Amino acid sequence: MTIRRLPDLWFEPLPWIDGRWHPGDERFTVRNPATGEQITEVVRADAALVARAIEGAGVAQRAWRETSAVERGNVLKRMATLLEVRRDELARLLTAEQGKPYAQSLGEVQYAASFFQWFGEESRRVYGRLVPHPESGREFIVQPKPAGVAGLITPWNFPLAQGAKKVAAALAAGCGCVWKPAELTPLIALAVGPLLREAGVPSGLVQIVPGRGTVVGGVLAQHPGVAVLSLTGSTETGRTLMAAAAPGLKRVSLELGGNAPFIVLPDADLDLVAEHLTRLKLFVSGQVCVTANRVFVHADAEMALAERLAALLAAARVGDGLADGIDAGPLIHHRACAEVGALVTEALAAGAVKVAENRSFDSDPALRAGSFFAPTVLAGVRDDMRVAREEVFGPVIPLLRYSRVDDAVRRANDTPYGLASYVYGRDLAQCRAVASAIDAGIVGVNEWRPLKAEIPFGGVKQSGIGAEGGEEGLREFVHLQVISTPRPVVVP
Ligand code: ADP
Repeated sequence: MTIRRLPDLWFEPLPWIDGRWHPGDERFTVRNPATGEQITEVVRADAALVARAIEGAGVAQRAWRETSAVERGNVLKRMATLLEVRRDELARLLTAEQGKPYAQSLGEVQYAASFFQWFGEESRRVYGRLVPHPESGREFIVQPKPAGVAGLITPWNFPLAQGAKKVAAALAAGCGCVWKPAELTPLIALAVGPLLREAGVPSGLVQIVPGRGTVVGGVLAQHPGVAVLSLTGSTETGRTLMAAAAPGLKRVSLELGGNAPFIVLPDADLDLVAEHLTRLKLFVSGQVCVTANRVFVHADAEMALAERLAALLAAARVGDGLADGIDAGPLIHHRACAEVGALVTEALAAGAVKVAENRSFDSDPALRAGSFFAPTVLAGVRDDMRVAREEVFGPVIPLLRYSRVDDAVRRANDTPYGLASYVYGRDLAQCRAVASAIDAGIVGVNEWRPLKAEIPFGGVKQSGIGAEGGEEGLREFVHLQVISTPRPVVVP
């Protein structure tokens, strides 16, 4: 079996500030979750360095906001091309530190590039408007302006794409940014620094500061030089960050946790459902805020679906994402395995039934120290079990029975979250009616991966505030200013 290797690194494991690498004393270790092996040590940015990064971004932003929208767009589109060109090296690095299979990492690089491309195009469409004044002789000009410096905080499950969504939107709007990657996956962010420079991003405009969430996040939340905070992370961290930003009344944009319902309507094609559900739950080993967390299936179809899922799961390969033909990699660390394991154990004790699991990673001695969790199908799950109430960050497929569609919809909405959801069925009119009745930011109808750069993605309820992607994603980094002014006199 060939195992891909780490690429030769073109960056230093140090904070990237003002276009240079900054040494420091405090380090943390980055490991490959498939093998437990150390990849490298990375220097943490301390509070003083983060403050310096914010100030440097402020200086760079004053020049950047004066560039034309077309110039900004060209830089972003060049970055999209660079990501495409370097996709193999980036994907190998991403798999080494995150664990997802190489093919999924390649997909993430392309997804990241699509945001640079999209916002590269959108930068020239940040329109203002002229509004008639109620008094004669005057008019209002509503003009969009870049918000300033943005603090960007990203998680470890899509460490490149989540950064790309935020950095591309901020730059397109004319903002500078200070990006804090997750401590578990800082390398792919640092790898992006020199690529941004190559694309034409001026020094200091995008500062990359690995470090502790509380320290770096704390400075970003409190420093008066930061105008907008954008976080993708857990609902708990969103709450903490919002509270930290409250004294300065900073604008926040939050993409948080979910507990996505997946409603299988009585007429659904069960082969299609099983295939898509398996792909969705093996994708990044279920460590995805939009993954299906509660599969509502009609009581008459539960066993037929369970059998199909068991067959597909048995054929999947769970292992080192750097090897060929792997469908699912490890979880991010052993603590994650213990947490998901506890949810499954509790569900089984409360009456759920394990229909299938895949332990194909067990046979590989090289993976003994890896943090693997066996993809599992559970039937007979009830709404009151923790596995159905909480966001499960792992490859577990919980089947919950229903007998009436309206009841399934009510139960689907009975959660404090509202991020993603899925509806599968043959009758599209019924699918659309059910989709509209679900309280969630996005619904995939007979589709397991609906997120794209072209659309605004954001949650309702405790899943977040604001949106990423679409034209709305750029607006998160724009302030509107109104100028009330006399109208130029028209000479007859
Ligand atoms: P996940 O469940 O994806 O690990 P977290 O919410 O724990 O999500 O982390 C998401 C990001 O938020 C990470 O970069 C993490 O370092 C950062 N973070 C964690 N705690 C805080 C905090 N108190 N303030 C700001 N950022 C934080």
